[in-house]
Amino acid sequence: MKKHTLIQSGISLIALFSMAFSTASQAQSNYPTKPISLIVPFAAGGPTDAVARLLAVPMGKALGQTVVVENVVGAGGTIAATKVARSTPDGYTLFLHHMGMATAPALYDSLPYDPMKDFDYVGQVVDVPMLMLGRKDFPPKNFKELEAYIKANKEKVTMANAGPGAVSQLCGLIFMSREGVKLTTIPYKGTGPALTDLMGGQVDLLCDQTTQTIPYVKDGRVQVYGVTTPKRLAALPNVPTLDEQGLKGFDVKVWHGLYLAKGTPTPILEKINAALKKALNDPDVKARLNDSNIDIVAMNKVSPEALKSHLEAEINKWGPIIRKSKISD
Ligand code: ASP
Repeated sequence: MKKHTLIQSGISLIALFSMAFSTASQAQSNYPTKPISLIVPFAAGGPTDAVARLLAVPMGKALGQTVVVENVVGAGGTIAATKVARSTPDGYTLFLHHMGMATAPALYDSLPYDPMKDFDYVGQVVDVPMLMLGRKDFPPKNFKELEAYIKANKEKVTMANAGPGAVSQLCGLIFMSREGVKLTTIPYKGTGPALTDLMGGQVDLLCDQTTQTIPYVKDGRVQVYGVTTPKRLAALPNVPTLDEQGLKGFDVKVWHGLYLAKGTPTPILEKINAALKKALNDPDVKARLNDSNIDIVAMNKVSPEALKSHLEAEINKWGPIIRKSKISD
């Protein structure tokens, strides 16, 4: 190749690079220019879905685009996590997941994604307690009776969950391991449909977040046997904790995080983080979360660093507990 053509092709390469660079930085500063999808790893009508739908509107308002909730269900949230890990890191695919992000690595022999390598972190979101629930005509009327009943009936008792990796499954596994019994577990695509079946009497037990269960406890459509956190709930002050009823140290509180695919440009991530903070400070959102006994995390936890280090700590916390108890489905 002659010298001048070499120089010419060098110049055109530089031009190409700078064009590509300016298009990329334009895309970042214009973001968002189209609707954003917010992936929820469980069925519509469940507690994770409810939190996502509550945040989608104010986040969309803050970002100036519609945030559309998309339920990608199955395999305890791992199908959705895989989809997000493989998505284009352009800020148009958000992912709301709970502590299943930390427990799945110990519950599955192998996962098609790595929670510590394949995601960018926007921030922590909310902490949600759970309730141990029974169908309303289930014979045991309190926790002591429940313990006696499951010991006598074992696998005849059915317990719903949202699949391996779901917190309903984790709560059930810990409960069974503490009681030394194996019940028959029935997986659903989320605890929304599981709760419908519990109310319909098709299944005996379900451990689920407070998000949608409190009104049904109050109007007697389901029975409640205990709270999964060490402190009683303001919304249900007469319901004892599992800890105070003999399962010392029983403590399952469902934390949530907002994620993106790894490699999302920082300016886009910062815009999403600001929108999340704005949504969590919205008075309407605050009031509705408060009604369900859901705690919004401190604002310094709504940060990429806080979510990443919390996730790592939780993977290290739950891995040994899950493996040591040899709890599996
Ligand atoms: N509560 C569910 C779980 O067990 C998920 C859901 O349907 O939101 O993880």
